[in-house]
Amino acid sequence: MKRPRLEPIFDDLPDRISGLGRLATNLWWSWSPSVSALFETIDPEAWARHGNPVRLLLELDRSRLDELGTHGPFLLRLDRAEEALDAYLRESGTWFDRTHPGRSGDLIAYLSAEFGLHESLPIYCGGLGVLAGDHMKSASDLGVPLIGVGLLYRHGYFDQRIDGKGRQTEIFPDHDPGFMPIRRVRDEEGGALVITLPVSGRKVETAIWAVEVGRNWVYLLSSDVEGAPKEDRDICSQLYGTERANRLEQEQILGLGAIHLTHRLGLRPAVWHMNEGHSVLQALARLRRRVSIEDHDYEAAKRIIASRSIFTTHTPVAAGNEAFDVELVEEQLGAYCESSGIDLERFIDLGRQPKQGGENGTEELSLTVLALRLSSAANGVSRMHAQVSRDMWRHVFPVESGDDVPIGSVTNGVHTQTWMAPEMMALLDEHLGADWIARLTEPEWWNAAREIPGEALWAVHQILKRRLLRFVAERENARRARESVSFAPALDPSVLTIGFARRFAPYKRANLLAGDPDRLRRILCHPERPVQLLFAGKAYPTDTEGKALVAEIGRLASDPDLAGRIVLIEDYDMNVGRHLVQGVDVWLNNPRRPQEASGTSGQKVPLNGGINLSILDGWWPEAYDGDNGWAISDDRPLADAGRQDEADAQSLYRLLEEEVVPLYYTKENGLPLGWIQRMVASLATVTGRFSAARMVAEYTSRYYMPTATRGEAEIKAHRAIGASPS
Ligand SMILES: *Cc1c(COP(=O)(O)O)cnc(C)c1O
Repeated sequence: MKRPRLEPIFDDLPDRISGLGRLATNLWWSWSPSVSALFETIDPEAWARHGNPVRLLLELDRSRLDELGTHGPFLLRLDRAEEALDAYLRESGTWFDRTHPGRSGDLIAYLSAEFGLHESLPIYCGGLGVLAGDHMKSASDLGVPLIGVGLLYRHGYFDQRIDGKGRQTEIFPDHDPGFMPIRRVRDEEGGALVITLPVSGRKVETAIWAVEVGRNWVYLLSSDVEGAPKEDRDICSQLYGTERANRLEQEQILGLGAIHLTHRLGLRPAVWHMNEGHSVLQALARLRRRVSIEDHDYEAAKRIIASRSIFTTHTPVAAGNEAFDVELVEEQLGAYCESSGIDLERFIDLGRQPKQGGENGTEELSLTVLALRLSSAANGVSRMHAQVSRDMWRHVFPVESGDDVPIGSVTNGVHTQTWMAPEMMALLDEHLGADWIARLTEPEWWNAAREIPGEALWAVHQILKRRLLRFVAERENARRARESVSFAPALDPSVLTIGFARRFAPYKRANLLAGDPDRLRRILCHPERPVQLLFAGKAYPTDTEGKALVAEIGRLASDPDLAGRIVLIEDYDMNVGRHLVQGVDVWLNNPRRPQEASGTSGQKVPLNGGINLSILDGWWPEAYDGDNGWAISDDRPLADAGRQDEADAQSLYRLLEEEVVPLYYTKENGLPLGWIQRMVASLATVTGRFSAARMVAEYTSRYYMPTATRGEAEIKAHRAIGASPS
């Protein structure tokens, strides 16, 4: 992969330990337990506070740096870490080399409005971003030549505070890019590269930052350039801000920027992957190049562009399928199209639809429809979601039946090393051999994993659970001190612990268990078999229903009748998520079917010995086999949403009372043997099949490589026509 020229972050690390700078700026450290342990030894206290190696090194005293530079055992570990990084970067014979020999020139560009790579780079909000981050990491592990393109936001999403009454408040801190694992890309003269983008008829200066993710790079565009007008700088202020005009300008930066940036850096992607519709304006920029520079006619240009594009849709929920008022699109993109001879109305026609909930005659541009029409392959993120999407977008395609709609499926997966606790990795090293990670996606892996001794798995899981409860207690203590709340949660490691963390969106029904307060109290406060519930999640700032749900859970958390058996952890992010998925016994997921396109948090739990208790939605119907977790309700929907909620709640209560809780507390010689069996089944059946390694391998073989080939053929066909005398 071509290395960009970059501005350094660490100017004055002593020579002997300058390798620390290299390790800190390649996020590979975050999925290499021995390297993060090395950073931790430098300053355990600072590490516990922020876990960010760039910040750690920048804030370290000179004397401590000098001391490290002469400390033999430390230097030995540093050398080993650098050797491991070099070995990783130089590895030949990766999955990609073996599976697609000779195709390393087919660069894939992966475009996303958010990337959840690590909590030290707060440019993500939730599932979509974390998926993009995991995609990048696994692409690197597999050797797939892929770059990411995204945006850098000054405030990121928002930090959530839970006040003394359990309500959410939002704060928007200025994140200092100086502490992030990112570097400015330089131009040929060595200065910081700035590209000028035609945004809403203005010339907007845009900085380019690069994030090193193993072998691959993510490029981040930001209009927050020193000296630029405030109006321009503020475009990249907030992730998913509430202003429509701002959102569309961000999407111009992302889409148009991706094309300008790759040209400027001499990168020629063979495939453009739109991770959700936010980046669809990349197609407009490519269209403009073909029409105005290469003199193609519009239809031919459109065909060529689509032939190299793929699109992944991520949600059947209307609000997640972005659309803009046509007037706003005309206002912002009019000048751009006019100057290049593109008929904007014709372009809008590709995604024009009556405005949902708007007045008669008002129209909007649906980015999902636009992206479907400007790509040559599309997919949903689980089998069930693909089916729902085929029905939902059938009107876009000239087909006879819903089954013919060309939307396939690639079920989401998670990056194993990011979400599996180091202690679990060590356990698997011991019992499956150190190369287990490379063989993860082989079906034989499942059988091998079933041989892991249950007792050892149980023991490791107890360590992780205690770590989680300590983490929650510390967070709660800090919150209680700040908000002067006296009520303290119980947090007992011998108690069955259920986690529920996700965005507080109404369809995710965080309060499903709260419908019958007495029954809930009997479950949680049972004298012999108690249960504790850990919640976390943010509600979108303008989502009043979502915020009411936060407040409802917040109230339960401070209800003396529930004796501290419910905790609402504030500020859900990847760090909170990691602790939760590693330490809980059970992961609860109870969305209103079929609105959870895939869900990935539940996939992170089995890797650590946890078990899913979930509605048969998203990825779960593909995984659930009767022994590896529990299914709430069945897969036959009721026509009425209210009755469905009620039936799902009854099923959930019943499962807890009759199956989950008794199984957990039935012990022989101090061990819950039936429970442990389920833990092993959960680990063995989910870890490989729902890994991002499997997911990226599927994208590569089923989508990227065929798309690159199709794109090549389309260009050749076009040239052949162009060259023929007639
Ligand atoms: C994994 C993850 C998600 C996605 O979880 P869902 O199952 O889609 O709700 C969201 N946020 C964070 C911080 C995560 O780690």
